[in-house]
Amino acid sequence: MAAEKFYEDDADLSVIQSKKVAVIGYGSQGHAHALNLRDSGVEVAVGLREGSSSVAKAQEAGLPVKTVAEATAWADVVVVLAPDQVQATLYSTEIEPHIRPGSALLFSHGFNIHFGYIKPSDDIDVVMVAPKGPGHTVRREFEAGRGVPVLVCVEQDSSGSAWDLVLSYAKAVGGTRAGAIRTTFREETETDLFGEQAVLCGGVSQLIQYGFETLTEAGYQPEMAYFEVCHELKLIVDLIVEGGISKQRWSCSDTAEYGDYISGPRVITPDVKEHMKEVLSDIQDGTFAKRFMDDQAAGAPEFKKLRAAGESHPIEATGREVRSMFAWRADVDKDYTEGSV
Ligand code: NAD
Ligand code: MG
Ligand code: MG
Ligand code: MG
Ligand code: MG
Repeated sequence: MAAEKFYEDDADLSVIQSKKVAVIGYGSQGHAHALNLRDSGVEVAVGLREGSSSVAKAQEAGLPVKTVAEATAWADVVVVLAPDQVQATLYSTEIEPHIRPGSALLFSHGFNIHFGYIKPSDDIDVVMVAPKGPGHTVRREFEAGRGVPVLVCVEQDSSGSAWDLVLSYAKAVGGTRAGAIRTTFREETETDLFGEQAVLCGGVSQLIQYGFETLTEAGYQPEMAYFEVCHELKLIVDLIVEGGISKQRWSCSDTAEYGDYISGPRVITPDVKEHMKEVLSDIQDGTFAKRFMDDQAAGAPEFKKLRAAGESHPIEATGREVRSMFAWRADVDKDYTEGSV
């Protein structure tokens, strides 16, 4: 069944323009939502912890900054864009005591609602507008007069007008310029987690590392291995994004295409799909969510250990060397190592 989609004409901007919107958090998504809303004529304030390094950034952009509690008490719509692992505590301590009956809670990922870490009272609307792209792309596309597609859904429609609000918000952040796809909190949460774990982040990273290890253990130079199993990935992915797997095969040589058919299924064997089903099952029954949240609550010992192990893989040192050959890469690495918005 094809997904239901909404565009500019399906949404009324005046709905969100008549509301006071508090954007909680000013990171990747937070800065993009706040600035796009403001530029769409919406009254916005940013809610941040006292002493947060984001306060100066939001103020520099000309946005009013309040504490999370003040922003929540002030707003008609509270947009929760703090990291997923802090949202539950933030909600119970700073948002729940101040949120007004009749207001709306808006998320960009369904994790905390779907797995029950946040349980809003039944007199508020609970909705989602989730851009299908990083926050920096959401802002850049909006400024260019375009938009990034968004997922939209309503979990709790207390007011009876939650859909009008969702579509209006989607329009204000630029989403309906590209198209808004209707989903549910359950579908968004489970497919998002599965995609990032099995394919996009987990699957691809492991595939690259195994490819790098196989070549370097066979005596090939690490720089060569890096180019062949990592650097060129972007070129392949760009083709897939533009025209699907078929365009990628069309653009590559016949040699590459034949090798794809012969060796792809030898590397990614059917038991990989069985493992994917196990990963999906752990997502669906909450096993993954519990493991993540329990570790975070304990100060993230497992997370920190895994991150350190990943950073010490030999491909990272080779990658830094190779990327320094590209002048345009220097600033990109600096950006993420210094954690700027
Ligand atoms: P982020 O880590 O980039 O930024 C979070 C911001 O929240 C910080 O910059 C800070 O301003 C604030 N913050 C951090 N700790 C806080 C605390 N304890 N209390 C109050 N504020 C705090 O987060 P993000 O990646 O923008 O993710 C926000 C939400 O958007 C998440 O639900 C995420 O799943 C969702 N999302 C993110 C992306 C993306 O591109 N990053 C895409 C789609 C959906
Ligand atoms: Mg995702
Ligand atoms: Mg995600
Ligand atoms: Mg090649
Ligand atoms: Mg070809």
